[in-house]
Amino acid sequence: MRTVAVTKIGSLRDPDESARGRIGIVEMPDQPLGPEDVRVRVAYSAICGSDPHLAEGFFGTDVPIGLGHELSGVVEAVGDGVRTGVRVGDRIAGNFLRFCGSCGPCRDGRQQFCEHIADYNRPGMAETVTWHESQVYVLPDSVSLRDGCLLEPTSVAVRIADKTRLRVGDRVAICGGGPIGQLALQVMRLHGATSLTLIEPIAARREMALAAGAEHVIDPLAEDQAARAAEITGGRGYDVVVDASGSTRAVRGLLDLAARGGTVVYGAMYPHDFEMPLNLSDFLYLKELTLTGVFVSPYAFPRAVQLLPHLDLAALTGTVFPLDQAVEAFAAHLSGEHPKVLIRCNDLDEGPAA
Ligand SMILES: [Zn+2]
Ligand SMILES: [Zn+2]
Repeated sequence: MRTVAVTKIGSLRDPDESARGRIGIVEMPDQPLGPEDVRVRVAYSAICGSDPHLAEGFFGTDVPIGLGHELSGVVEAVGDGVRTGVRVGDRIAGNFLRFCGSCGPCRDGRQQFCEHIADYNRPGMAETVTWHESQVYVLPDSVSLRDGCLLEPTSVAVRIADKTRLRVGDRVAICGGGPIGQLALQVMRLHGATSLTLIEPIAARREMALAAGAEHVIDPLAEDQAARAAEITGGRGYDVVVDASGSTRAVRGLLDLAARGGTVVYGAMYPHDFEMPLNLSDFLYLKELTLTGVFVSPYAFPRAVQLLPHLDLAALTGTVFPLDQAVEAFAAHLSGEHPKVLIRCNDLDEGPAA
């Protein structure tokens, strides 16, 4: 089965070609279909901002490392012990992680720390993927396969919203207008956020946010971000500040934007060795800030499925490459010129709308 994979560890942006990481298409064995498993013919698999970090060896260096965790597809086989009711022909998306349900963390309401989280983490930027039935969610009829591959990033936006403990009417700022930032913005808007602000240096991403319901945008390179934030919030600061940029430069100023008693969610991946100074007196004593992060998104998928029809996803799913052009697709992703890059793994689209 053809699978997109990291074939050489290294930064995909390394100017030195001999050191640069590499993406390729490799042949990987079909996964076995266990009794509780579902085999999915993959329609679309989206490139994630985390994929280049995998190429850098963030989660291990044994190549090839199969990629793809944001996918949609059509069920082509189910094991004979499947009990969720999912059937051959169903249009689905899902969670690339299976939470076992039996380990200590799973039993304690903390599935994100499941001790067997890697067991079913299989590459989905491939012709097929086989998942446990608990990973699979049927897409609403109104959501195309093309938009449906955004279920997983939408689940991350839901999880970010959960971690903010947002109250209706809270003032919210989001730093970073990539896919997670845009989806988080839409989720926060539905959640009753006010003074909703996107902080983002790229103009096209600010425009996209305004079209999707942001009330304000700040260009952190051209404007004084703290002064704009004070102006927008009447000097109080934001009750909720979310980082979706993963930028070590961008995160430094975010604590200054938070209101007293506010919550700051670091909702991205950061370099292993990145450390940020933290003035405990200012931010934890005087301002009583809550600082938190997001690793993966347990308990968020059922609600993400419900939200999909209410989100404007088309702006994120406009760029599509066929599977055999996966290398070009990654180059397009790295160029930063596309909001999101999708790979069409099989031609399964239904009707002209998709
Ligand atoms: Zn992702
Ligand atoms: Zn577990």
